[in-house]
Amino acid sequence: MTGLLQFIVNLGYFATAITFIFALKRMSHPSTARSGIVWAGYAMAFATVLTFIHPAIHGNYFLMIFAILIGGIIANVTAKNVAMTDMPQMIAIYNGVGSASAACIAAITLLRTGILVEEHSISGTFRELPPMLLLAGIGGLIGLVSFTGSIIAWMKLDGRMNKVVRIKGRNAINGALLMAAILFVIMLANVTTHDTAPSYSLIILLFVVAAALGILIAIPIGGADMPVVISLFNALTGLAVAFEGIATNNYGLVVSGMVVGAAGSLLTILMAKAMNRSLSNVLFSNFGEAQASTEEIAGSLKPVAAGDAAMTMAYAQKVIIIPGYGLAVAQAQHKVAELTKLLEDKGVDVKFAIHPVAGRMPGHMNVLLAEAGIPYDLIFDLDEINEEFKDTDAVLVIGANDVVNPVARTDKSSPIYGMPILNADMAKQVFVVKRGQGAGFSGIENHLFYLDNTNMVYGDAQKMVNDMIASIKTL
Ligand code: NDP
Repeated sequence: MTGLLQFIVNLGYFATAITFIFALKRMSHPSTARSGIVWAGYAMAFATVLTFIHPAIHGNYFLMIFAILIGGIIANVTAKNVAMTDMPQMIAIYNGVGSASAACIAAITLLRTGILVEEHSISGTFRELPPMLLLAGIGGLIGLVSFTGSIIAWMKLDGRMNKVVRIKGRNAINGALLMAAILFVIMLANVTTHDTAPSYSLIILLFVVAAALGILIAIPIGGADMPVVISLFNALTGLAVAFEGIATNNYGLVVSGMVVGAAGSLLTILMAKAMNRSLSNVLFSNFGEAQASTEEIAGSLKPVAAGDAAMTMAYAQKVIIIPGYGLAVAQAQHKVAELTKLLEDKGVDVKFAIHPVAGRMPGHMNVLLAEAGIPYDLIFDLDEINEEFKDTDAVLVIGANDVVNPVARTDKSSPIYGMPILNADMAKQVFVVKRGQGAGFSGIENHLFYLDNTNMVYGDAQKMVNDMIASIKTL
């Protein structure tokens, strides 16, 4: 009977894995992303139901239902009430919750195996324990690093923590902590006799060291480097879950962990590429620790009314719109869609330029523009459109800042030096919509705003774009 149940559960996990991959495929395009999320939800619900018939579950149904109810209610209420602008923070927290779950599985596996070892000190199953403990320990180590790292990322995204906390000798401290953690994992797995069964204190030590490592990895990172570290923690969470899946012989965890791990790793590489850093540079150099920009700013800020900017755009041949985080704050995407339609009706060639790290989460701008129904064929990535700016009559920057800051090209002391930026400054005329003198995420001044060909349209993005629409309608 147990064998049959195990077979049914494994078959179910296989179906879950296929559904996860199908869901992920759908998430790769804005038009199908919403249904991708729904499919992933079905797969997760199915995997959860399967747990109830898993042969390893010994009647803990009340606890399971209680945990599902608590988690479900909290997720439902928070997800329904979260503001669109707080979505990145929520994703950081959810990532942290996933990695904490992996760490909990590790703790339970290590403790339960300890009991097993005590019970069967020199039994046949005993020989299989060390590799299992090793995997559980590695998963626990990675899970804890990702958990505390994600919490720090959440605090930074939520503005609860100073963006860059410098620590002298950070790499040496991190190296020492990593060595200590690896040593604890090896000690935990080195079960050769009854007496060396995993001890509570060793598990706690491992978790404390791993937690400290996660904090120390994330705490000095600021500037514009957060996208890389967020994707990295995402990949680590997947890896931790996969390790726990192997340790506990749970195919559902293995596959879902690998899918998240692989997707997160690819995203990390993409984000590192967007920041023009190699992965090893991201992992082992002092990324995010650069000094504030020292380049002198030439020129002055030149405010202009939204209506005047609209007139220039209405008579232009080609306009490129660059959305940034401020667009999400103002929720101006629907107004931008209306403005685009009006300009196109006037015969203007309108395109959107999306920087890979614009906003506060990967794909943030694509999601907003898709929500407003802006046609995908108007939306271009940095590589596809950067050459076109020099032939563009007007660029409309809406709530973007770091991704159009020309110091990234020239100022070696700038925290964003080396990051490819959108070449807005090369257009004939630039209009920048923002509320005032607020800096971008990296906290530095933007030299674009002071150029001769730049005018500032001060105000909330939704209101300013609305004023532009009203002016064009009078033509
Ligand atoms: P920035 O954070 O550089 O700038 C946003 C600008 O929007 C601010 O200067 C602000 O100026 C303006 N703004 C805010 N609210 C409004 C509003 N209601 N109306 C009009 N303007 C507004 O945004 P970018 O998108 O250019 O750059 C993203 C930054 O975030 C990069 O540094 C990136 O590395 C980082 N990041 C990205 C993540 C990702 O995954 N994409 C994750 C974490 C960080 P003012 O206050 O004057 O209005």
